[in-house]
Amino acid sequence: MIKEISYKANCDLVNCKNEAKYCLFTKKHFSPKIHFCEECKQKLYNELGKNIIPKSLDAPYSPKRLSKI
Ligand SMILES: [Zn+2]
Repeated sequence: MIKEISYKANCDLVNCKNEAKYCLFTKKHFSPKIHFCEECKQKLYNELGKNIIPKSLDAPYSPKRLSKI
């Protein structure tokens, strides 16, 4: 779904004026592609990660890890 592009395009994300490096294909006919840059890719991943991975304080301190300390 996300592909690296070889042509020149501007990043489509809000408040970004960088040159796009990636392209996300959508089903829409009017603007079938969303272009975004490396920076925005990281931002997107971070945003998605926040929603997908529930905030848990337990994970880094699992009983197995603590027993080794
Ligand atoms: Zn961008």
